Amino acid sequence: MLYPPQINYERPESLSEALSLLNDHPWSLIMAGGTISVLSLKKRAVNAELVVDIGRLHELKGIDFRDGRYRIGSAVKIYEIAESGFEGPGFSLLRQAASSVGDPLLRNMGTVGGNVCLGDPSNDLPPALLVLGAELNVVNHAGARNLNISDFYKGPFRTSLAKNEILDSINFSEPGKGYRWFYYKHYIRHLDHSVVNVAALGKVIGGRIADLRIAVGGMSVRVPTPIETSWAVGKHASHEELSRIVKSASEKCLCTDDRQGSAEYKKRMIEKITQMALLSVMGDAL
Ligand SMILES: Cc1cc2nc3c(=O)[nH]c(=O)nc-3n(C[C@H](O)[C@H](O)[C@H](O)COP(=O)(O)OP(=O)(O)OC[C@H]3O[C@@H](n4cnc5c(N)ncnc54)[C@H](O)[C@@H]3O)c2cc1C
Repeated sequence: MLYPPQINYERPESLSEALSLLNDHPWSLIMAGGTISVLSLKKRAVNAELVVDIGRLHELKGIDFRDGRYRIGSAVKIYEIAESGFEGPGFSLLRQAASSVGDPLLRNMGTVGGNVCLGDPSNDLPPALLVLGAELNVVNHAGARNLNISDFYKGPFRTSLAKNEILDSINFSEPGKGYRWFYYKHYIRHLDHSVVNVAALGKVIGGRIADLRIAVGGMSVRVPTPIETSWAVGKHASHEELSRIVKSASEKCLCTDDRQGSAEYKKRMIEKITQMALLSVMGDAL
């Protein structure tokens, strides 16, 4: 049995108190649901002088939908997304990704913010949020900044968050009628990191691609990665375009042999799942 080291622990009553703590203690560890942060402490993988528990801050709670736009507080639990009744292709895509996270226990403990901020390329929510063009609202003791999720991931387990910053909320617009969505995760054993996960959102009007967004995650890529598809917009939804997009997705694969499989296998899985995504969002147009 592993135990965490003796460590100072604070559970602030407000977001501003949490931000002051982070500012005064540069060697702090933010904890939300604790599913990974506690594990990291137990394994001595992080070195912190203070744990700041933000998991119950009311400012970081709630899912709001106003004027076609969602605001999801970073301390919202994964199960709240998985079980929420919001409709529309954008939220449905996110719900499917949330339902794919671990098991019911993890979804009950884990938060949306923890899932995004961990920077694990195999996590479920980032590819879905990438295709939704999510904007992250980040706060520190001096103010706030907004950044697009496509600028957030810098490398495996590395994000653009500074040590004294907290992800406050995740915001995105509901794409609206006519869009089709897709999310699929491929893993070897239950609760393993996913080898490949793919999210897609698209719309076809009169046989032509009106919008198409795809993102790939999983241990086969370094960071959750959007696939460039803007060149396909306006073209006829055809098997030729589909093959070109599948090829550009597989080029994003890290393609190294490891215990999750050979490079060749990972490449094939990216190709296969991207193809499934395109067949699904282009639908009858193909
Ligand atoms: C056995 C197991 C299986 C798992 N399976 C999956 C899976 O299938 N899919 C998946 O996506 N994930 C999986 N995870 C990873 C993890 O449980 C989830 O990503 C979860 O959502 C993390 O949320 P948390 O609130 O518990 O994060 P925490 O452990 O509290 O924090 C994770 C990291 O994010 C930082 N952080 C948290 N919140 C914020 C914030 N608001 N602002 C700034 N930094 C913040 C913390 O400092 C820490 O570095 C698994 C984990 C385990 C242990």
